[in-house]
Amino acid sequence: MKGITLPAAELDEALAALHFTDRLLRPSGDGLHAFDMECRYLFWNAAMERITGVSELEVLGRSAFEVFPFLRENGAERWYREALAGRAVASGEQVYAIASTGRRGFYEGFYSPLQLGSGKIAGGIAVIRDITQRKLAEQQVRETEARFQNMADAAPVLLWMSERDGLCTFFNRTWLEFTGRSLEEEWGVGWAEGVHFEDFQRCMDVYSAAFTRRETFEMEYRLRRADGAYRWVLDRGVPRYTPDGTFAGYIGSCIDITTRRAGEAALRDAVRLRDEFLSIASHELRTPLTALLLDLEGIERTLAKRPEEGLASGRLARRAQKAAVQGGRLSRLVEELLDISRISGGRLVLEPAEVDLAAVARDVAGRFSPLLAAARCPLALRADTPVWGRWDRSRVEQVITNLLDNARKYGAGTPVELSVEGDEREGRLVVSDRGIGIAPEQQARIFERFERAVDARHYGGLGLGLWITRQIIEAHGGTLAVSSAPGAGATFTVVLPRGQANSVTG
Ligand code: ADP
Repeated sequence: MKGITLPAAELDEALAALHFTDRLLRPSGDGLHAFDMECRYLFWNAAMERITGVSELEVLGRSAFEVFPFLRENGAERWYREALAGRAVASGEQVYAIASTGRRGFYEGFYSPLQLGSGKIAGGIAVIRDITQRKLAEQQVRETEARFQNMADAAPVLLWMSERDGLCTFFNRTWLEFTGRSLEEEWGVGWAEGVHFEDFQRCMDVYSAAFTRRETFEMEYRLRRADGAYRWVLDRGVPRYTPDGTFAGYIGSCIDITTRRAGEAALRDAVRLRDEFLSIASHELRTPLTALLLDLEGIERTLAKRPEEGLASGRLARRAQKAAVQGGRLSRLVEELLDISRISGGRLVLEPAEVDLAAVARDVAGRFSPLLAAARCPLALRADTPVWGRWDRSRVEQVITNLLDNARKYGAGTPVELSVEGDEREGRLVVSDRGIGIAPEQQARIFERFERAVDARHYGGLGLGLWITRQIIEAHGGTLAVSSAPGAGATFTVVLPRGQANSVTG
């Protein structure tokens, strides 16, 4: 072989051994080559040709560093020298790039001395393993992982991942930023420290039940945010599997549903309030209606039997009077219902005119005092000095009626006072009783729609009077206030500026 200085017999011996080794190595697909003491190739197997694209003919007898200049750059000289010095070395992962064939990739080389039977070292021998495919696959896995990590971090949801043993090993950046904790802190079961203690057991039960059955699960719980506030999250976990179908753990995502839950709760409250209201309203409307119908039937019967006698004894008149009282109650209830729909729809239109508040109070008191007297609530009226302003007369009448009616209902048979006074800026109307009173914590609530501070079984009413009253007063630019203590009666004070009134939206 040209260029090779080895004596022919030694070369033959060496080649025989190399061919033998090549046969042994063939199934592995690894490359095998050998070189003499000057690093000139004296053996080059078929796998080496496949890897480099360079044939045996092109390399035999030539120096390795001449044929493959990249070997100078990647430090191969060192491994060649080691082998020639009688030591076995591994190159570790290396890059190859062959200009003449355009082949490039990664390899690992295992170098050892080429020793003859005599013990003489005749050169070196190298097994070359092409690891390009493995490296590309690894790179792909790394890229896929990086892509997943990027996607997970960019996701607006909190992501977690657990392993086959149930322990969590991944949390995306959104999660870590939400809880304000590090991956190390959340790792394993660390995340559970952030779950509200009232929700913890339930969560664990749902998770482990789903886990053993490998089922998708959904649960809501409170998770502590970085600022210490607990937020409701909806957590959905899905089992994950490796490509060969082996169970690999769970992947889950959480979204913050605190606002949604609050909205739902408000909606539930509103529905409950509406249902309660409807049941009270139907009861309230039925009571005077039943009484009214009874009175009308009574009148009919009396008329049918002995009309003259009925008239003479005044029975008909008394029945008619009672019927009128019930009719009045009914129409007030219907008015209240109409008012709330008017106010809610922004259709409460005021018709202001020059009105004397004291005169209105006297009128209403005059009409109302028989009712108050019947309830053993004598009325003391102080409204002698005229108080003029631009107000809607019928709405102001409604305000006074509502307050007097409440004083009658909740006055517990005690005297009621109504007074009117004023100065150049405003008119003031005060209604007070000495009845059951209102607890301090209830006092703000009673001005709201449907809100009551009494038991519906003992006191009839829709819980609308004060709300409507306040709307009317505020539409006039005025205020309504209460001062009261339980058992010590209540004083409602209405202040109405003398100026211009507005329409109102509830
Ligand atoms: P209703 O009388 O139909 O319940 P209101 O809106 O007029 O509705 O009153 C709301 C609540 O305020 C009443 O249910 C009652 O608890 C309380 N309240 C109103 N006026 C008085 C009063 N003069 N004394 C004690 N409680 C009162």
